[in-house]
Amino acid sequence: MDRPTNILASIENFGRIYRCGDCDNIHLQVGPVTVLLSIEAYMEFVTLVNTSAANFESAITRSCGGARHDC
Ligand SMILES: [Zn+2]
Repeated sequence: MDRPTNILASIENFGRIYRCGDCDNIHLQVGPVTVLLSIEAYMEFVTLVNTSAANFESAITRSCGGARHDC
C-alpha cells in the first residue's frame, strides 16, 4: 500500500520538493537534477539554506550601507 506523494513546495519551470510515497525520502528537484534526502538530511538542508539566505541578506545590507553603490 503506497502512501501518496506529498508536494511540499513547487515553482513552475524551476523545481519542486516533495515527500515520495514510494521511498519515503524527500525529493529535491531543481531543473533536471533530483537529490534524494532522508527526513533528517532534509531538515539539515533546510537549516543550510536558511542560514545562507540570512547571511546573503546581511551581506546585501552591508553593501547597501557602504560606498559600493547608491540604493
Ligand atoms: Zn522516492
